[in-house]
Amino acid sequence: MIVEPVVSVILHCSRCNTPWLDGETETPAYWSGLAEIAETFKRAALRETYGSDVGGWRRTPNERYLCEDCFVVEGGLVVERPPLSAIEEAKVLRAQNEYARQVGKIAAYELLPSTPEVAR
Ligand SMILES: [Zn+2]
Repeated sequence: MIVEPVVSVILHCSRCNTPWLDGETETPAYWSGLAEIAETFKRAALRETYGSDVGGWRRTPNERYLCEDCFVVEGGLVVERPPLSAIEEAKVLRAQNEYARQVGKIAAYELLPSTPEVAR
């Protein structure tokens, strides 16, 4: 059996941890990686006619990605709402630490030296 592993990522709100949903299926969308997310938000910011959000989400200047419930726009700037309650914030941090751990594991796996080629 030949299998191909596929690695994708789910974008979570930096403040409340809500996942970014696919507009059609209403399930968390799978992105190919950090670069695709960054590119998509960068492109949206350049596109003025349709606004600069991506599915209602915005990116703050300090690289926080926020769902529509977690920011306000003040004077054209995206401003993150005040922090959640301490209990909610602790839950978010715990979940996000777990994601970071998983991402770290994958990164470590990718850095493993590849198996030596069979001598011909
Ligand atoms: Zn949020």
